[in-house]
Order: sequence, then structure tokens, then C-alpha cells
Amino acid sequence: MVDEHNLLGWSEFEAGATLFSFEGDRANNVFHENNSIKHSVADWRVLKPIYNPAGCIHCQFCWIGCPDTSIVAQDKRFGYIDYDHCKGCGLCSSVCPTNPKSLVMFPNQMQQEEAIKAWPAKEEKKKEQ
Ligand code: SF4
Ligand code: SF4
Repeated sequence: MVDEHNLLGWSEFEAGATLFSFEGDRANNVFHENNSIKHSVADWRVLKPIYNPAGCIHCQFCWIGCPDTSIVAQDKRFGYIDYDHCKGCGLCSSVCPTNPKSLVMFPNQMQQEEAIKAWPAKEEKKKEQ
């Protein structure tokens, strides 16, 4: 749960992500003092990323790109999204290289099953003139 008395604003966060290995126990990683584990910004979220495993190639781009370490990887594979800390910035979706993307931004209230039914189709390559 989010502690409302422990929230920070944009300017109080450090730039960049706190990266940690795919391996090991997330609870034992060392984070910056103003990290999003201690200071959740999940209540900023209007859109949320939803994961569709069908086309995921486990490239780890989303894990590297998330500034809130809210993509959790397990055994060097996509694990799950930590919605207690995800602020809905969309970076994970923008760096996902699959076609269609394996992470797509949907309204915050949408459930995964509903989103997967509405998943975007594969984009066709434009023919060169
Ligand atoms: S960036 Fe996309 S393809 Fe790569 S691990 Fe994340 S969801 Fe899967
Ligand atoms: S939208 Fe994606 S990149 Fe942004 S905080 Fe949430 S999981 Fe991380």
C-alpha cells in the first residue's frame, strides 16, 4: 500500500534508474535513498503497461528502461510489473521491440484479459517506393 505521508514530487527524485541484476533477491538490493521502492509514485498513473507474453522475446529492454524498477525479472525472463510502484510513464512500452509490442499502455482500470482481447495487430512494414 502507498503511504501518502511518504510521497515525493518529480523534482525530488534522482534522474535515471536504479539498476540491479535479473538474478538474486530483489529485497536485498541497495537503492538510492529517494527510490521508488520507498516513495511510491503509483498514484500518478493514468495509463498502465499491460504485458502480453505471446510475443515477448525476454530481451530485457523494458527492465533496463523502467526508471522505477517496476519491471521485475525472474531467471533472466520477464517476470511481472510492480503496479505498487509503476507510475505509468510508458517507457517500457516504447522500448519494447516486438511487433506488436509485448507491453502496451492501457487505461489504468483495464484488466489484462480485457486488454489482450483489444491488443493491437502486427504493423505491416511499409513498402519502399
Ligand atoms: S521489452 Fe518487450 S520483448 Fe523485451 S522483455 Fe520487455 S516485454 Fe518482453
Ligand atoms: S510505465 Fe513501464 S517504465 Fe514506466 S514506471 Fe511503469 S513499468 Fe516502469
